[in-house]
Amino acid sequence: MNFCPRCGTPLIIQFEGGRDRPACPKEGCRYFHFGDFSMGAGGVVIRDNKALLIQRGWNPNRGAWQLPGGYVEADEEIVPAVEREVFEEAGVEAKVQDIIGFRHSIAGSIGGPSANIYVVFRLTPVSGEPAFDGDETIGAGYFSLEEIAEMDRVQGLSVWAIRRALELPLEEGFGIDRSDDTLTRPGWMLFAPKD
Ligand SMILES: [Zn+2]
Repeated sequence: MNFCPRCGTPLIIQFEGGRDRPACPKEGCRYFHFGDFSMGAGGVVIRDNKALLIQRGWNPNRGAWQLPGGYVEADEEIVPAVEREVFEEAGVEAKVQDIIGFRHSIAGSIGGPSANIYVVFRLTPVSGEPAFDGDETIGAGYFSLEEIAEMDRVQGLSVWAIRRALELPLEEGFGIDRSDDTLTRPGWMLFAPKD
């Protein structure tokens, strides 16, 4: 990165937070480039002990089955983001119950390392039957673990998440914690084990 993404000033290298980093020298800006980060969210929607899966219509991995999910926009709250992705990809309106777990990865990409956190939520369906658009998705449905074991090309992370979601008692997931309203406000949300 050569120019400040906030103000366009040419960046210099400065020691901050334990290492040299690109930094903006402009008075009043103080931008530091800490690296490239992204966040994803996936949803395990459970109905009658079965989980919702979609079949990818696009490459990479066209034809593979996985949880509905996708990237969380930088200006988007993560709970509505995963509910949006589940609806867009599988046609099911569902509400977040809790967090099952998350994966942190440092994946290589063009232009250097890029860190990603992929948060897996458990959701309860509200309405809608699984549907696919024939383009981005070419299949959708609820499947039991036994059925999934017989299917070809189910993403490993999805199987892990579904197994965890089916095993984890509803009262033991990380739910949305609203116990201290000084710590929650628009754009801020806390998650903690349910009481
Ligand atoms: Zn700047």
